[in-house]
Amino acid sequence: MSISINEIKKYLLRNDIKPSFPRLKVFEYLASHPTHPTVDDIYQSLVKEIPTLSKTTVYNTLDLFIRANIVRVVTIDGNELRYDVDITNHGHFKCEQCHTIYEFDIDTDVLSPSSLDGFDIREKNVYFKGTCPRCLAKPKSVSS
Ligand SMILES: [Zn+2]
Ligand SMILES: [Zn+2]
Repeated sequence: MSISINEIKKYLLRNDIKPSFPRLKVFEYLASHPTHPTVDDIYQSLVKEIPTLSKTTVYNTLDLFIRANIVRVVTIDGNELRYDVDITNHGHFKCEQCHTIYEFDIDTDVLSPSSLDGFDIREKNVYFKGTCPRCLAKPKSVSS
């Protein structure tokens, strides 16, 4: 997803978020890195450009985005939260060898168990884990 600062500004405003500079930069980072970065990834990259940036600001900004429903959290990693600007229906596959997170199309609308009738479902996550074809093709290393 390639998106200009101006478009991000409009997008944030449409979602009732004041487009401050750090917010614009955090969103821009997420939009240009569809790799599901962690808070640390975002912070380490942006602090080079915005030396006054704190990790708390990044956290708070992401929190704001999540509450506005323009970013979602991917918890596939267990101990690390990852962030995703793609809020359309899709599943995540984590390769346990190279730790890459792949996305795949899945229609989560069809996942509607009748036992949840009457529940207000806000979010549906589909997480798969295993080994990606790239890693499967690699000869097994002895050391690791
Ligand atoms: Zn994703
Ligand atoms: Zn892999």
